[in-house]
Amino acid sequence: MNLPLIDRAAQQNPNKVAIVATEGTFTYQDLLETSAKIATKLLDNIADLQEQRVAFLIPSGFQYVATQWGIWRAGGIAVPLCVSHPKPELDYVISDSGVSIIIAHPNFESLLRPIAEEKNIRFILTSETLPEQVSLLPKIELTRRALILYTSGTTGKPKGVVTTHENIQAQVTSLISAWGWTADDRILHVLPLHHIHGIINVLTCALWSGAECQILPKFDAEIVCDRISDGDLTLFMAVPTIYVKLIAAWEKADGDRQQRISNGCAKMRLMVSGSAALPVKVLEKWRNISGHFLLERYGMTEIGMALSNALNGERFAGYVGKPLPQVEVRLVDENGAVVTPGTPGEIQVRGATVFLEYWQKPEATVKAFRDGWFCTGDFAVVENDNYRILGRMSVDIIKTGGYKVSALEIEEVLRTHSDILDCAVVGVEDAEWGERVCAALILKSGSDLSLETLRSWAKERLATYKVPSKILVVEELPRNAMGKVTKPSVAKLF
Ligand code: ATP
Ligand code: MG
Repeated sequence: MNLPLIDRAAQQNPNKVAIVATEGTFTYQDLLETSAKIATKLLDNIADLQEQRVAFLIPSGFQYVATQWGIWRAGGIAVPLCVSHPKPELDYVISDSGVSIIIAHPNFESLLRPIAEEKNIRFILTSETLPEQVSLLPKIELTRRALILYTSGTTGKPKGVVTTHENIQAQVTSLISAWGWTADDRILHVLPLHHIHGIINVLTCALWSGAECQILPKFDAEIVCDRISDGDLTLFMAVPTIYVKLIAAWEKADGDRQQRISNGCAKMRLMVSGSAALPVKVLEKWRNISGHFLLERYGMTEIGMALSNALNGERFAGYVGKPLPQVEVRLVDENGAVVTPGTPGEIQVRGATVFLEYWQKPEATVKAFRDGWFCTGDFAVVENDNYRILGRMSVDIIKTGGYKVSALEIEEVLRTHSDILDCAVVGVEDAEWGERVCAALILKSGSDLSLETLRSWAKERLATYKVPSKILVVEELPRNAMGKVTKPSVAKLF
């Protein structure tokens, strides 16, 4: 045993269920044994895996988890690939991280083998036999690089974020104490396993706690409603778009099913939202259905989670609470001076949870830090001791006619219109105003809302300079694999 995460699993009741997936039910002991065999197989291929990157593309389930652990136990750096990414994106991540081995589920063989052959990378299928004998596995220092996760690519090309075992340990223990994880927890995992939300907040927190993680191969609103109705879950975590889909599924269910879903939710101890701003309208609808006031938190690939509403204690709609344990947060102005409550500033973060570096981008890494603080590029304000996220400085803070306007605030107001299902507000370059506020809207089907009526409605609720000067009605908003709206693509619509 060589990693705290794995030591803990071994010390916990080894016969306790760790993973429930389509492949079956697996205990902590199963996880330890299979991951040791996978580690042995990797070391049979490359005797010293230290600092070597191992990419893997496996549907969410037991094999995914055992492989991630196997790579860690062999001393390698795990590079999870996204099952929904097309070939060019997979190729980008594989090339950028310079992997030595690719592990693939047979479903992805035709996609990945050509890339491996072209780049002379060792290729292993998960269907290959594993060794019976386990070799002596190396001792892993906690300061070693453990994981390269690529950012969601919401604002540009995804960047490889390197975290050490120590960083991961800090990210996980911070959340476990804040959200009260225990071995009695049972969580339904519905998030992609190439992103921090799914890997750290759900999977690794569950395994660290000795809890049970029930993994769905992919999100499906009806199946999630079934599983919630079973009434044995204690925890659920998702992105806002998933809650939107669950609300839609609940609304079209019959009375009995609605009741079962609501009862199942009532049995849970915590439901969490994050990775993108949670619209207040969604929070309220979900509260009516489930009885849960969603705990919203803020974080990013580079820093893990930084701000969170309280587990026990009052939560405020539209706010992401306070700094998590082990995380220092401050807001600063353009000159780097710390701002007073009520004044917006850039979020900067410091602490053991913060990543080591952008993979092979030393200049980007240096640029991202100031005096030891990581500069998130996100804007926020503290009101009544709680942080409110105003958005990304690059795409959500619109500079128009000398004002700085938060796209997220305008979106919140637009969503209160009963004909607007969803929207995205962006700034579009303009010779006169610097940027113009523009809004892409999804309207309720059958809505005959005219843009002029909407503009007068908006004028009654927003300062004139915040009222969108251009409005487009769209069928769908462009989103990435995490369900986040990609604002640069929205801006191109205008
Ligand atoms: P890229 O860096 O490639 O553009 P990304 O920033 O979306 O992609 P992630 O690390 O997945 O990649 O996302 C972190 C970002 O998500 C944060 O910087 C912030 O802008 C946004 N975010 C996360 N949680 C929240 C939240 N609760 N409210 C608003 N925004 C959030
Ligand atoms: Mg980012």
